[in-house]
Amino acid sequence: MIRRNRQTKIVATLGPASSTREMIEKLFRAGVDVFRLNFSHGSHADHRARLSTVRALEAETGRPVGVIADLQGPKLRVGKFSDGKIAIAPGQVIRLDLDPTPGDGTRVNLPHPEIIAVMSPGDEILIDDGKVRMRIRDKGPDFLSGEIVTGAFLSDRKGFNVPGVILPIAALTPKDRVDLEAALDMGVDWIAQSFVQKPEDVAEARDLIAGRAALMIKVEKPSALDHIDAMLELADGVMLARGDLGVEIPAENVPSVQKHIVRKVRFSGKPIIVATQMLESMIENARPTRAEASDVATAVYDGADAVMLSAETASGAWPVEAVEIMDKIATRTEADETYRRIIDSDSPTGYEGSASDAITAAAHQVANSIKATCITNYTSSGSTTLRTARRRPAMPILCLTEHTAVARRLVLSYGVHPVQVDGATDFASAVRKAVAQARIQEMANPGQRIVITAGVPFGTSGSTNILRVAIVEE
Ligand code: PGA
Ligand code: MN
Repeated sequence: MIRRNRQTKIVATLGPASSTREMIEKLFRAGVDVFRLNFSHGSHADHRARLSTVRALEAETGRPVGVIADLQGPKLRVGKFSDGKIAIAPGQVIRLDLDPTPGDGTRVNLPHPEIIAVMSPGDEILIDDGKVRMRIRDKGPDFLSGEIVTGAFLSDRKGFNVPGVILPIAALTPKDRVDLEAALDMGVDWIAQSFVQKPEDVAEARDLIAGRAALMIKVEKPSALDHIDAMLELADGVMLARGDLGVEIPAENVPSVQKHIVRKVRFSGKPIIVATQMLESMIENARPTRAEASDVATAVYDGADAVMLSAETASGAWPVEAVEIMDKIATRTEADETYRRIIDSDSPTGYEGSASDAITAAAHQVANSIKATCITNYTSSGSTTLRTARRRPAMPILCLTEHTAVARRLVLSYGVHPVQVDGATDFASAVRKAVAQARIQEMANPGQRIVITAGVPFGTSGSTNILRVAIVEE
C-alpha cells in the first residue's frame, strides 16, 4: 500500500536519466504520482518500455499511476549551421530562408514557408528560448531578413517563437498523429497537446482520441490565453507550460497568468499542472535554489493539482533528489496554516444545481465540521471525485471506482487516492466496503469518522445522491 501525505500531486518526466526499472521505482517511491513521456524526444520503443515498467510497478504496489504522453506539436526550429554555431551581435542582419543547406554567418534555413508568408516587417522573432531577439526588416516569398536586437550566438536547430502572430499551422503535425496513435496503442491515460491556439485545435485532437484517453491542453501561446474558456470546455485538463509560455509572453506576466489560469481551471474541476523550470538548477545540483523552492511552494499556494518536473528527472543528474525535495516542499507548504486560509478563502461557492454537486459540497462541509479523516466517493465516471477535488478539502479523497482507466486519470487530481474496487450492489455493503477501504488505505483508525458519498442505483454515472457519515469500528 502506498499513500502520500500530501494533496498536491507530483508529475515527473521519464527520459534517459530515468529509464531503468530501478530508477523508475525509486522515483515512484519518492513520490511521483503521474509519469510523463515526452514525445519530443526518444523512440516509441523507449516510451513503450518505460510505460511497461510503470505498469509493472502499479501492479506490484496496487496504486494506480497516471501516464501522460506529451506530443511535440508544431515546435518551430531553425536549421543547422556548417560550424554548428555562429557568433552574432546586435545590429547584424541575418537572413532566414528556405534553402536547406547549412547556414553561415549571414543566413540560416527556416524550413517553414507558411511562417515566412504571415510575417511582416516590424514583427519580432525569438530564438533559443528568447536568448536571441530579432526584428524583421524585410521579406520576400522565400526569405525573411531580420536585425539582431539581442543575443550572442545562434546554433543548430534552436527553437523559434513568434509571439504576436497567430500561426496558420495545424496543432497536430504529421509526427504528432503518428505519435498519438502509438501512445494510445501503448495505453497511456492522458494525451497532452502542445501549442494549441484555438478551440478547433482541441476539438480535432478530441475527435482523434475518441475517448481512448483524457485530453490535456498545454497553455503556451498567447492565443491559448485568449480562448481559454472555450478550450477548457473541450479538454479534460490543463498544463501551464511555462517554458514556451514565458518566451511567448513577457516574463513579468507569467506569475499573474499562473494565478489566473490555475484558479479558472481549478474552479472547473479539471486538473491543472504547473510545469517547467520548477527545480531547474537540480539538473546539475543536488540542492535547489531558494527561489526554486519558493516557486514550487507558490504553485501549491495557488491551489494547483500538480507540480511537474521535466529535465530534472528526464536527463538531470539528481532525479530522485528532485522528487524528494518537491515532495517535502509541497508537504511543508500544505502544513502552513496560511495555506489552508488562502485555499479556503477562495473556493468555488456556486452550485450547478445538480444533486451530485450539492452532495459533494455538503460532504466537504460535513467532513470539516466532524473532522472526518477522509471523504470517500463511489464514482463510475470520476465526475463526483472531480467535484470533490475542486473544493480542495483538507482531508484525502478516497475514490472508489470499478474502472482502472478512471482510477488512473484521477491520480492527477488534488487529494485523490483512487482504489479500484468491485462495484457495490446495495447501500449497506457499500458503507461496509468504504469503511474497510479507509482502514486498509490507512485513512482512518478505529473510532474515527469518514464521510461517504454514493449514488443509488449503483453503477449509474452522475447519480450521486447519498451522503453518509460512518464510524470506523474497533
Ligand atoms: P515542453 O513543454 O517541455 O514540451 O516544451 C513544456 C513547456 O513549454 O513549458
Ligand atoms: Mn512547450
